[in-house]
Amino acid sequence: MQFVDITRQYAHQKHAIDKRVARVFAHARFILGPEVMELEEALARDVGCSHCVSCGSGTDALVMALMALDIGPGDAVITTPFTFVATAEAIALVGARPVFTDIEPDTFCMDAGALERTIAGYTGTDTLRAVIPVDLFGQIPDYDRIDRICAPYGITVLADAAQSFGAVLEGRRAGSLGHMAATSFFPAKPLGCFGDGGAVFCHDEERARLLRSLRVHGMGTNKYENVRIGINGRLDTLQAAVLLAKLSCLDEELARRRAIAERYNEALAPFFTTPRVREDCESAWAQYSLLHPARDAICEQARQHGVPTAIYYPIPLHMQKAFAGYGYTAGDFPVSERTAGHIFSIPIDPYLTDEEIDTVITTLIAAAQRHEA
Ligand SMILES: *Cc1c(COP(=O)(O)O)cnc(C)c1O
Repeated sequence: MQFVDITRQYAHQKHAIDKRVARVFAHARFILGPEVMELEEALARDVGCSHCVSCGSGTDALVMALMALDIGPGDAVITTPFTFVATAEAIALVGARPVFTDIEPDTFCMDAGALERTIAGYTGTDTLRAVIPVDLFGQIPDYDRIDRICAPYGITVLADAAQSFGAVLEGRRAGSLGHMAATSFFPAKPLGCFGDGGAVFCHDEERARLLRSLRVHGMGTNKYENVRIGINGRLDTLQAAVLLAKLSCLDEELARRRAIAERYNEALAPFFTTPRVREDCESAWAQYSLLHPARDAICEQARQHGVPTAIYYPIPLHMQKAFAGYGYTAGDFPVSERTAGHIFSIPIDPYLTDEEIDTVITTLIAAAQRHEA
């Protein structure tokens, strides 16, 4: 058993993917070819957001979104330290200061109460411009409350929806929540391509135009007229073709992920702390993550029985060397730190067989019973 086996997905969708990719080889418009625009329209429709601008990766999506908001030196952006490094890295890359706030212990998403305290108690000299809540593991943070907290301060909410494509909050899809959203099509994400890819979602035409300029070196009316500093942030036409083919299987895959999560919840809740999904939300289940005080021993025993696990994330960002310059120390974000010590993720690939799911469950229960506190 592999943690994620993308070759199974390819075997399932080979015909559609090959056909789409072959068409790109034939027309040879590898850069911003027709599939890129077709994909952007399909994604915008799917998410229910007026504009989608595709780009080279989820990291590019975050950087381009921050650039489009004109966030840079002298600005500060709040996010959580319990996320993939790219969230905070993008803030630092545009020259702004990352400010951290803690997570909820059961959803692992930004704690709105903690955010409120971080904003109210902020004494830094950089201007608080934006908050980046992270849709961690496919879950949706409390955007309604986060929006209400940020609005009086004029703080923009930029969703890091890299892990949540397909998640739903009361009929609204991830990508449409917040003022803007960045997503990723890294192969192991809920909607993944066969390489790097990403997209930014926004609600107004003006900003979409700005994002399209930023993604091609700050172009003006044509590529050789440069009106601002941008990046090379384009999505490959080949990746757009792969995504268009995969999009037609996404709902089926999401349903399967949800069914697996339900089985895990039921079977594992007596032995582990299972993840809480907020009411009115459907997670995209990018990861299924559990907590246990004997995490390391349990993962080792699972490995010996052929069940792979992964740790997202072993070191909170405020304790990473790369962020040492921002003045944080161990103990600053106790929920993130405790979670990092106890959390692990188990396979939730939609192409797992029922037998494999049974093996994961029985192996984990046996390991938990052996390591009962
Ligand atoms: C994967 C991920 C990113 C970055 O996406 P890439 O496509 O790998 O650049 C950003 N934020 C989070 C939360 C992610 O999981």
